[in-house]
Amino acid sequence: MSLKILTVVGARPQFVKAAVISRAIRRESGIHEILVHTGQHFDANMSDVFFEEMEIPKPDYLLGIHGLSHGAMTGRMLEEIEKVLQKEKPDYLLVYGDTNSTLAAALAAKKLHIPIVHVEAGVRNFDETMPEEINRYLVDRLAALNFCCTDLGVENLTREGFFTGKINSEVFNCGDVMCDAAFFYAEKASRQSRILETLQLIGKDFIICTVHRANNTDEPERLRALVEFLNEVNKELPIVLPLHPRTRSRIQSQGLTTRFTIIDPVGYLDMIMLEKQARYVFTDSGGVVREAYFFHKPSLFFLEQPVWPELVDGGYCINVAPKAGELQAGYQKLIQLKPDFHTAIYGDGSAGDKILSRILSHHARNASRN
Ligand code: UDP
Repeated sequence: MSLKILTVVGARPQFVKAAVISRAIRRESGIHEILVHTGQHFDANMSDVFFEEMEIPKPDYLLGIHGLSHGAMTGRMLEEIEKVLQKEKPDYLLVYGDTNSTLAAALAAKKLHIPIVHVEAGVRNFDETMPEEINRYLVDRLAALNFCCTDLGVENLTREGFFTGKINSEVFNCGDVMCDAAFFYAEKASRQSRILETLQLIGKDFIICTVHRANNTDEPERLRALVEFLNEVNKELPIVLPLHPRTRSRIQSQGLTTRFTIIDPVGYLDMIMLEKQARYVFTDSGGVVREAYFFHKPSLFFLEQPVWPELVDGGYCINVAPKAGELQAGYQKLIQLKPDFHTAIYGDGSAGDKILSRILSHHARNASRN
């Protein structure tokens, strides 16, 4: 049986996720993957480094679309992806997560009657001020195959009517491809990464932190509260923050003073070494907060509503609204946590293979019907 899958990626976390399924695809004969990079993230340290380190094949199409408003970006992507889909005529469109690239690709494919595979489906934090939440709802609703990472993802879709027979979509919990990636690349990271030596962190205690959600960076009061909080904590436990370009520009334009260690965004191997060595993880990233769990680190998550409530309910993560006063209280709770990490909320590191085998059986069933 031959099968053509067209994958669309555009942002840093999608390169990590695509690395896992792309590797699984290359192990199978008869499957051909076309990779489209929308260009949403394009800097060497936000894009190229992931392709090199994770051995992701070079994209077949580079659309170079970035730096526009949400509407303009999604519109341009929709137009360009439609052209690629019409040319390539894939059996499936494969998309990850909740970015504008995910939404644009799903809309383009749906109108062309190409079945959509959505990996990381069913995630909800019920905050519709977040562009990501809107993208999640819409792409789940359009996808023929929705792959959730956890039982809660399946429950969310059940509540939205996915199992009533009225929505033409199959839903599975196959585990999280980010868990596969963390386990698979951890050994390579230990061999290749020199970040701990470079930052003189060998044997040292520190906090690894990331902040990049527009809801935090683009709200001056929240960003100020976060920076002041990090300055305070840094007095007792050093903080290392690989700074996302958007956050850097907002800190500069607000004229905020930072007293913690800021570095440029790092590659995936360096990032997981920093996470493995850190005492705590502070973040507003849905990917980094899961990696904290994979590497058994208690985490502090900066958003009004957690993206992964599983981690908060399980006692692995403290969720805190990024507001003055609440942040310190959250940190005090974090240092009291005694998490039991002997659980497998996100599966056992074989999500990529399971997802691919579900796609293959879906394709075989469709082929036998036609
Ligand atoms: N990451 C990285 N270098 C960094 C910061 C993050 O490699 O400097 C990785 C991180 O390990 C995770 C992914 O990027 O695998 C998460 O991406 P991001 O936080 O941009 O997106 P989100 O997960 O919030 O959608």
